[in-house]
Amino acid sequence: MEFEPVIGLEIHAQLLTDSKIFCGCSTRFGAPPNTHTCPVCLGMPGVLPVLNRKVVEYTIKMALATNCRINRENGFARKNYFYPDLPKGYQISQYAHPLAEEGWVDVETQEEKKRIGIIRIHMEEDAGKLIHDEHFPSSYVDLNRTGVPLMEIVSAPDIRSAEEAAAYLRRLHEILVYLEICDGNMEEGSFRCDANVSLRPRGREEFGIRTELKNMNSFRNVQRALEYEIKRQQYVLEAGGEVVQETRLWDDAQGVTLPMRSKEEAHDYRYFPDPDLVTIAVSETWVEEIRRGMPELPLEKRERFRREYGIPVYDAGVLTASRALADYYEEVARLCGLPKIASNWVMGDILRFLNEDKRDIKDCPIPASSLAEMIRLIEEGVISGKMAKEISEEMYRTGKTPQVIIEEKGLLQISDAGALIPLIEKVMADNPSQLGQYRGGKDKLFGFFVGQVMKATQGKANPQLINDLLRKMLAG
Ligand code: ADP
Ligand code: MG
Ligand code: ZN
Repeated sequence: MEFEPVIGLEIHAQLLTDSKIFCGCSTRFGAPPNTHTCPVCLGMPGVLPVLNRKVVEYTIKMALATNCRINRENGFARKNYFYPDLPKGYQISQYAHPLAEEGWVDVETQEEKKRIGIIRIHMEEDAGKLIHDEHFPSSYVDLNRTGVPLMEIVSAPDIRSAEEAAAYLRRLHEILVYLEICDGNMEEGSFRCDANVSLRPRGREEFGIRTELKNMNSFRNVQRALEYEIKRQQYVLEAGGEVVQETRLWDDAQGVTLPMRSKEEAHDYRYFPDPDLVTIAVSETWVEEIRRGMPELPLEKRERFRREYGIPVYDAGVLTASRALADYYEEVARLCGLPKIASNWVMGDILRFLNEDKRDIKDCPIPASSLAEMIRLIEEGVISGKMAKEISEEMYRTGKTPQVIIEEKGLLQISDAGALIPLIEKVMADNPSQLGQYRGGKDKLFGFFVGQVMKATQGKANPQLINDLLRKMLAG
């Protein structure tokens, strides 16, 4: 029997606000344990949470970017459970009334383009972190992370392969980073994903029993974990067994998923509306204001680059990988007026220099104006392609403009016939026997004369111009 995977992803994105969701504590990563805490995020008796407006604004942004319906009235609920990293004994989340529902994004894999549904997007607070001592039978708790704002994005079970799941994940990651509402750092946990997966016989409508995978901290691991889990469930089903509904952990070192706990049901959490927080009313004017402030999104930008600059799909993809890179490219293209050549230089030398130094485009020592100027100089024949290579390296090293480097290094290409003619005359006068042979029909000697002129100009002559002049002058 042939099985078809059914996958749905739950993504938690940490929002890039300065302070936590219900108090004024800092959200900065990496501070000494328990220094970013206060009575509110420690869950002391008698305290009251106050909602951070930025959290709502950022979530609305994401909802708009993913074509969701925004619920004008939405609110928070308590999700009750005990765990030592959760001082209140409940997590404040959204349950029956999430901020946004029923959206979608388009993703592309090797095989096809596809629309993946989004069931809901809601806001919630993060829990703290337990650190287990390897040498003593004790654990520590760091509550800096309690109350850090998260946005949860729940996909519809529309995904049908591990590759598609990775493509969907990349798309959402890219949107979040473009919107500048999440730093997208998977290693620090600012962008995490739980993957739900089940199998069903191909052609059957009804879904099978699913498992939920956790602990995957890279795109690659999400894909690997799903690939493994799909195979595992297939073996179980083919052997006539049943998949157990449970939460499984991805073990990166072994490359397997291992059972962690049986899956809890929503009713286990005794959700109820949080009486400390009022209903959130999102006004039409506010949503419109946010919509107007939205940046161009990656897919739209890619399309526009292809249309406006006539560059290939591949180039458009590379150049829009980040907003900063796209802005850099656009400025170079606009200033030099040669978009494809600009693309070659940015994707070639610039990205190579930056990769070698693990530098961000924002810290590129070559301003867009200098690169554009250099491209113009090649186009106008002032410098050769070979000189440009040397100039670009020097620009990267020193930040100097092409003009300054050209002057300092004497790199001007001789493209002026007036300057070349006397040199050619001298070469002809110095080599009378070769001239005689050439004129007598030994065409091969043309290259000899090109070489002599090049040598006389220390390689700086415009090769096309030498050719043209020599043809005329050697003919006599
Ligand atoms: P929970 O919050 O208990 O994990 P949800 O109903 O919110 O449950 O679903 C979570 C995710 O699981 C969603 O992304 C959804 O698309 C996906 N999902 C639900 N049922 C299945 C299934 N049978 N197989 C695969 N994914 C599923
Ligand atoms: Mg879940
Ligand atoms: Zn606090």
